[in-house]
Amino acid sequence: MHENFIDIPGRTTGTIHRLTWFSFGNGNDGPHVYVQGGLHADEGPGMLAARLLVDRLIEEDGAGRVRGRVTVVPAANPLALGQFLHGDQQGRFDQYDGRNFNRDYPDLSARVIASVGDVLTDDPKVNTGRIRQALLQALETIEPSAPSDRLRYALMRLALLADVVIDLHCDGEAEVHLYTQPVSLERVLPLAALTRCRAVLVADVSGGEPFDEALTKPWGAIAKAFPEKAVAQGCTSCTLELRGRMDVDRKVAANDAAALVDYLRHIGVLTGHSEIPALPCEPTPLAGSEALVAPISGVVSFSVPLGHQVSEGDVIAEITDPVTGDVHAVRAGTSGVFYARPATRIAEINKRLGKIAGARPFRDGPLLSP
Ligand SMILES: [Zn+2]
Repeated sequence: MHENFIDIPGRTTGTIHRLTWFSFGNGNDGPHVYVQGGLHADEGPGMLAARLLVDRLIEEDGAGRVRGRVTVVPAANPLALGQFLHGDQQGRFDQYDGRNFNRDYPDLSARVIASVGDVLTDDPKVNTGRIRQALLQALETIEPSAPSDRLRYALMRLALLADVVIDLHCDGEAEVHLYTQPVSLERVLPLAALTRCRAVLVADVSGGEPFDEALTKPWGAIAKAFPEKAVAQGCTSCTLELRGRMDVDRKVAANDAAALVDYLRHIGVLTGHSEIPALPCEPTPLAGSEALVAPISGVVSFSVPLGHQVSEGDVIAEITDPVTGDVHAVRAGTSGVFYARPATRIAEINKRLGKIAGARPFRDGPLLSP
């Protein structure tokens, strides 16, 4: 195992944020997988699962079972770990400019297309290596200044080397669910099955340039730009949502780490064999995921539990106006699994009250929460 770090200068004199990662194996005989937790620094489940994954990998490494390579960043956002407002940690948005830490990753497609044409061959394996090199060089041409952008680029620099990228997050309160793209779906489904995902949400472009999409997108664009060359999809990525913010439990996280280890075994990063169970849900389009919205403000009580299969028209929540006593029912606009809801019970007008994974696409534009 190697432990490495880089120091990201803070916004003011005398401040430094240290980003630490662990790597296992040399990648000579298997794929390279990158796992990070806590990009949204108020999301503990992924950080704990990633750290317990490191512990498991120390054992695997000691037993000589690492064939490929694994990079793990257990606390991917030291900047936001240190952000507080009146005692409450603020991990999702940069307090300086309000930007979401999982948005605004650079699209390297155009830069790589401009540089890589002459070095592509008829061998897809050779091309994958050359494109990866070109992606790293393209990233080097951008010089970030804001600490949050330096962090974005540092994480991308690590993840661009990987064949598979797993970004661990969580929702307010949620069942395990996962976001991915059509090009990544097949390779990601065993992970969804091992982690018992209740929703697998698929979109080509979900909007806002999140981390996972910025890593996969250039490969498709390069293949499209050079149809006569053999260009494989060199990166598979997903965002795995490990339940809700309060679901931090060492036993549950140990099971999640075990599922990640099984996945690493399945795809040949570790030696051995792992059984893949049946997936507990069918993948559905992210454009079919309904975000329920509060039309009035008040106190929210949910009428159905998380994980419930709901039908269009079902009452999902009731909002009570605490002054007038008026009650407003919030109904499902689609049928599917009720897979996520906020961790608060006070709603302002337009508050997002929960998500239903429907099979019928009905949305366009930005598909992710702000
Ligand atoms: Zn998140």
